Amino acid sequence: MTVTVLAAENIEKSYHFGTRSLEVLKRINFSLKRGDSVAIMGPSGSGKSTLLQVLGTMLRPDRGTVAIGGRNVVDLSDDELSKVRRRELGFVFQKFNLLSTLTAIDNVAWPLMINGQDKASSLERARMLLERVGLSARTSHYPRQLSGGEQQRVAIARSLVARPSIVFADEPTGSLDTKTGTQILELLKETVSAEGSALLMVTHDVAAASYCNGRLNLRDGQQC
Ligand code: ADP
Ligand code: MG
Repeated sequence: MTVTVLAAENIEKSYHFGTRSLEVLKRINFSLKRGDSVAIMGPSGSGKSTLLQVLGTMLRPDRGTVAIGGRNVVDLSDDELSKVRRRELGFVFQKFNLLSTLTAIDNVAWPLMINGQDKASSLERARMLLERVGLSARTSHYPRQLSGGEQQRVAIARSLVARPSIVFADEPTGSLDTKTGTQILELLKETVSAEGSALLMVTHDVAAASYCNGRLNLRDGQQC
């Protein structure tokens, strides 16, 4: 049986400045099933990041619904939304966004400890994920002691640590050279699918999109 992990209907979003407004998302409909990997593609400024933020509960749409695990989340309070993000979603950013004062293993274990899991089992899960992304020998390194590709591997491990139903990634290879970027994409796709999560990724790289089994094309905020 295929399970829908995310369903968005008639999403609209505008940005306002002074008396002017910019319609960035125009009636977007989208759904993601367990195990899916989907690439959001389109020219710069077409609304990709805005859409990912709306679907990832980081930004509220003006209209429409976003259902995660069958529950519409657009009207939840900020506190409830952050709980949804912490417990059910994972994120990988272009700039890695690791905590500079924590080692690799503590960066990965941190979301579990925030969720109230005990330290020993959090560290055990973090160690297993770091091993899965090929960083067993770097668990005690701080972010500044790691290459960009290694930092993104840590971020991938962190995104999966709480067993999210969906991992969101906004141009995860945008800060990496082409060769490292390709390795990271393969790793992201493989690791997310091995963990049983769905992947939704913004990219403007056609090769990157080929790692996914679905595609959502945006142009001027519209699906095309
Ligand atoms: P993409 O990720 O496809 O490059 P974005 O979703 O970042 O596109 O942005 C879509 C459009 O919305 C762009 O024209 C951008 O300038 C504008 N935009 C993005 N964020 C804001 C904001 N916070 N305030 C006003 N305009 C914004
Ligand atoms: Mg963007």
